Amino acid sequence: VDFIVKPFRTEEVCARVKTHLSLSAALRKLIQSNETDPLTGLFNRRAFMKKAETEVARFKRSHKPFTLLFGDIDFFKNINDTYGHSAGDDILVAISKILNTEKREIDQVSRWGGEEFLILLPETDLNGAVLHGNKIRELISEKPITHEGQEIQVTMSFGASEYNDGNTQIEKTIDLADRRLYLAKESGRNKVVSEGT
Ligand code: GH3
Ligand code: MG
Ligand code: MG
Repeated sequence: VDFIVKPFRTEEVCARVKTHLSLSAALRKLIQSNETDPLTGLFNRRAFMKKAETEVARFKRSHKPFTLLFGDIDFFKNINDTYGHSAGDDILVAISKILNTEKREIDQVSRWGGEEFLILLPETDLNGAVLHGNKIRELISEKPITHEGQEIQVTMSFGASEYNDGNTQIEKTIDLADRRLYLAKESGRNKVVSEGT
């Protein structure tokens, strides 16, 4: 990124190094803020799509299917209306923490928008996705989230879809998970749907 002409002067070398360290720190911060959702710290939609592209490229070589879990908090509007927007924000943060903790290192979790989360599970088939979805779903529904001393009961619904040899378009895979999420909502919420549509 730079060069210094001999003979070196200590002050100049130190000043240049300092400049480049602060430039690189600023750049790292900028990239991070461009890729993460400020409230939850999860990847945003753009960053998620980049991760998904990597997985699609891997699929082209290995043909190992991967799955998506599209999650949406149930009746979140009610929660905001009942407990206030800051309680809603606390819940988004608490749910994000659960999604990010209860995952394998290679899984990618994103805040897709509002109270919607998209999770990518590499080297995982639909059965595996359903197991993972149910594990998170149960963790969330079993333990209320505390906001300013109040316990708030939250549930979440999921749609799961698989990217495989018969389905090699990431947008379509996302759409399918979204439609199955809708089926989960329609059929009573607090569940994982991996079939239909
Ligand atoms: P459903 O079970 O069908 O998903 O119902 P819902 O109420 O969760 O769905 P709906 O799409 O009607 O409402 C989503 C709500 O999420 C409305 C919006 O105000 C709230 N929301 C979106 N982003 C944020 C946020 O960053 N913070 C808070 N507190 N609320 C948010
Ligand atoms: Mg929603
Ligand atoms: Mg919702």
